[in-house]
Amino acid sequence: MSDLSYLSPTATSPWHTYLSQVDRVVPYLGHLARWVETLKRPKRALIVDVPIEMDDGTVRHFEGFRVQHNLSRGPGKGGVRYHPDVTLEEVMALAAWMTVKCAGVGLPFGGAKGGIRVDPKQLSLKELERMTRRYTSEIGIIIGPQRDIPAPDVNTNAQIMAWMMDTYSVNTGATATGVVTGKPIHLGGSLGRVKATGRGVFVTGREAARRIGLNLDGARVAVQGMGNVGSAAAELFVQAGATLVAVQDHTGTLVNPKGFDMADTAAVLKRDHGIGNYADAGRIDNEDFWDVDCDILIPAALEGQITPARAQRIQARLVLEGANGPTLPEADDVLKDRGILVVPDVICNAGGVTVSYFEWVQDFSSFFWSEDEINVRLDKIMVDALKHIWDTADRHQITLRTATFAVACERILTAREERGLYP
Ligand code: GLU
Repeated sequence: MSDLSYLSPTATSPWHTYLSQVDRVVPYLGHLARWVETLKRPKRALIVDVPIEMDDGTVRHFEGFRVQHNLSRGPGKGGVRYHPDVTLEEVMALAAWMTVKCAGVGLPFGGAKGGIRVDPKQLSLKELERMTRRYTSEIGIIIGPQRDIPAPDVNTNAQIMAWMMDTYSVNTGATATGVVTGKPIHLGGSLGRVKATGRGVFVTGREAARRIGLNLDGARVAVQGMGNVGSAAAELFVQAGATLVAVQDHTGTLVNPKGFDMADTAAVLKRDHGIGNYADAGRIDNEDFWDVDCDILIPAALEGQITPARAQRIQARLVLEGANGPTLPEADDVLKDRGILVVPDVICNAGGVTVSYFEWVQDFSSFFWSEDEINVRLDKIMVDALKHIWDTADRHQITLRTATFAVACERILTAREERGLYP
């Protein structure tokens, strides 16, 4: 399936998942299928050594990556992840999903992603800063406001973006706010960016629910992962009348059919960085999360969570992929056969990169928009993109995932063809 000599993907690896998703779209690409191999390999992958001095005087080396999957439609765009399981192969898949995501919502970006193989919780704040700055210097040879623009992802945030922006600016001799997005507001960040991914999950979920006749008022929602994406999405669903009935994160799985109190939930998450100590809910076995009675399931953690076996257990009518790559291809088939609708990551969680685009535009024009303006524009872009994808799915009788790939890959490969091969 992959003839790249530097990889050996396993059947459940993210790159394998991505390649299967590409294979499924080929029949719908017409003459553009000629270019499909473009999507099956990254344009450029940089592996960097990130050595830093630890607080105790020892030196440690971390593995860092930045992958630019495709730049046909514009500069690379995509987050930077700090996680002990990061690999080149994972970053390649995440970069490729960014290519599809940006094209699917019509943003003038290609796809990229970065990561460091590290458990950031083991580092002091100073060590985290040194690691971020050294990593930024190392990938500085390929990033830039017109070349490739990083952003937050798992375990990275506005402070880390501020260090990245500062390091790049110092190294190039000019303040370059547009080199990263997801920055603090007074450093050229955008209002609404922090909650944008969760808001996008809500908007696509709201539209999908309307189309399948699922009333949000009283709908029961289960969320895996209460980080930036899961918590913001849960909050918006509850504001729309839904009940948060189950939450799973690295500290455990909690259920309360009467609903979680959102103020208490937020307080516990702020204090403990995990849901585990939330008082007014019952604890269940982690694996039992998958057959919790609910209407909407939001995987908002890591890849590969919905396996075929778990897909058999899911009770929801609607799965909203807040995470990147949470569903394995065979699990997609199980969900389809069971009549469970999946709004795939490549459209469902595109709200984050959409507001990143707004941030980048605002930085270039040095003219900043109100939060209302941002949320209204985000809503419209997500609704229009989902409508186009839905029509495509109806026309070809395919899943929303394959339809998103069809819409996106047509745009990417048309750009590829129009630019032509050089030399
Ligand atoms: N990390 C986010 C994602 O996976 C946002 C990327 C960005 O804003 O560039 O979509």
